[in-house]
This record gives sequence, structure tokens and C-alpha cells, in this order.
Amino acid sequence: MKITVTAIKADIGSIGGHTRPSDEVLGVVERFVRKNAKAAGIIDLYIAYTGDDIHLLMSHRNGVGSSKIHKLAWDAFKLGADMAKEQGLYGAGQDLLKDSFSGNVKGLGPGVAEMSFDERPNEAFALMTMDKTEPGAFNFPIYRLFCEPSANTGLIVNPKLAHGVSMVIMDVMENKKAELSIPKDNFLIAALLMYPGRYVIDSVHNDDDQIFVATTDKLHNIAGTYVGKDDPAAIMRVQKDFPATEEACSVFKVVHYVSGDTRGSHHMPLMPVRIKTAASANYCMPIVSVVLFSMHEGKFTAHIDAFDTPDWDYFRTKAVKKAEFMREQGFVHPATLVPEELEYSKGYQAMMGEAKKKFK
Ligand SMILES: [Mg+2]
Repeated sequence: MKITVTAIKADIGSIGGHTRPSDEVLGVVERFVRKNAKAAGIIDLYIAYTGDDIHLLMSHRNGVGSSKIHKLAWDAFKLGADMAKEQGLYGAGQDLLKDSFSGNVKGLGPGVAEMSFDERPNEAFALMTMDKTEPGAFNFPIYRLFCEPSANTGLIVNPKLAHGVSMVIMDVMENKKAELSIPKDNFLIAALLMYPGRYVIDSVHNDDDQIFVATTDKLHNIAGTYVGKDDPAAIMRVQKDFPATEEACSVFKVVHYVSGDTRGSHHMPLMPVRIKTAASANYCMPIVSVVLFSMHEGKFTAHIDAFDTPDWDYFRTKAVKKAEFMREQGFVHPATLVPEELEYSKGYQAMMGEAKKKFK
């Protein structure tokens, strides 16, 4: 029977701004999931945070979209949000947009990435989590991983990857998906991924397996108004027929500019950080963490923090340097986002309304 790995994430409040959840909130969420894990069919659980977002990673045999699993995560986040409110944390419960659960967390606020597969004898996969950015932040690294031999030699030497994979891209405005083939549609894919605010990578597959899946929920579309940056997470299977672990992680060395940051209104580089890192008070630089797992019969044997080794300090420094270059731009685009993508667009519109009155 297939194993399903489900990652569900939410920002339910953090300390002194949008930094990280409190230990008490994490404790409430974890204890609730562990207490009810068996009844929901959960084989194993991993809980962590990246900036202000808590991630629950659960293995089970219930399949994708299991209401038991989704409800358990929802109820856990609800309890965590109550604790966050009790503690006076900032943004307490901000990602829980509805009052009651209705079969699936999609559309309720939390982000979900999950896939089912026949577990390999040496199953290896990565949990990728980001804060202070948007789902399109995965576009460039994942494009390079599957479409650019100069970024990934595996595309030449691994027959399965060389044969090509298919990439599902979501139009987050129209809520539609397109499946494109690599390498046949390479330039078409590039054209779409050029604008990560609208077109985002949803998943990647080969003939037999799913390789990658990301959270593609768009919070501001769910709520009607913008309620928080839709910080993404993803699951990627690695090794053998899939990208090697080091290929999958190295694409984050570019520290490319993504949208998000302070007030969700700027472009800054995506800095690779250790898991359980608070959001940076340096203008909320966007951050990404990767945790690598071995799994056997659904049990998480052990995990490794991919960006913990000393070499990643160099890329963190590179990100800080790129951030400084961009911040020298001050308020001038492209340091800031275009008006329609500003998280604080209403404030900007009010300002422009005043400014327009000056024009005769
Ligand atoms: Mg966040």
C-alpha cells in the first residue's frame, strides 16, 4: 500500500512581530497531533518552523487529501492559535481563515503539499520550507534543477532525468493548471515562470512517479483580501531516478531575488538557513530551509539539516550582500514590488489618491 507524505503549514502567531512561534505554541500543536496520531493513521510526525510558519510533516497510508489527516492538522493549529492569543503573540491565528473545518484544509488558510508513492527500500526525500516570500519563489531553482544541464549534470548522466519529466504549472489568478513537458516545452515553461507572482510550479512528475509537489494556495485569493504572505513549502523525492540530494539543494545557492520581505512589499534575495531559524530582522530577508529524511515503512528514520554545513555560511553572506545592494535602492522599484503586488496596496492606493489630486 502506498505511503503518503503530507506537509501542512500555517502561521498562527509569533514573538515580537513576524519572527517565530513560541515554544508553548509549538508544544501545544505537537502534543495534540501526537496524542491523536494513531486514531488518524499517522505513522510518523516531524514538526518544525521556518520563520513564523509551523510545518507538520506526517506519513500515513490514508492517501492524498485525507480528511482525517487534514482535520487533525487543522485542530492542532486551532489549539495552537488559542495559545498564541493567550500569549498575546503577533498575528495569532492569522492563517486560519475559516471558523470550521470542511473536509480538507485547502481553502481554509493553511498550505498543503502531499504525495503518495510506493516507498523505495532506501526512500529519501526533502522537506523544503520558505518564509517571507511566495510560492513562485520555487520557480527559478526548480526550473534550473529540471531544465538546465548547466545547473544539474544529472540531466545529462541520469537516463530517467535525461528522458525528461513533466511539470505542472498553476496560474494562481485563474486557478488553472497546465502540464508541460521537459525538454520539449522548455522555453514555454521559462516564459511562464518568468513572472512568479502569477505562474508557479505546482508539481513535477516522471512517467511513473511524482517527484516534487509544492503548496500553491494563494492566501489573498482565498480570503478576498490580503491576509498574509503565502509562504510556500514543498516535498521533493531525491536520489536514484530523481535529482541527487546535492543537486536539489545546490540550486538554492543562487540566492535569487524573490518578492516578500518587510510588509510583503519588496524584492530581496532568498537566503538558505538552518531549520528552526527565526525570520531575519534585516528587512525580513526571505529564507529557505531544507530538511532531508530517510524513511522506512513510513517511519522517519532520521533527518539532516541540509543547510547546516559551514559552506552554506558563504551563501548566507552572499545573500546578505545582495540584500544590501537591493536596499540601497530604498523605495524605488525593483526594490519594491509593482503596485498590484504590494501587500500594503490599499495604503499605497490611498497615498496615490492624494497625490493624484495634485495633478491639474
Ligand atoms: Mg511566514
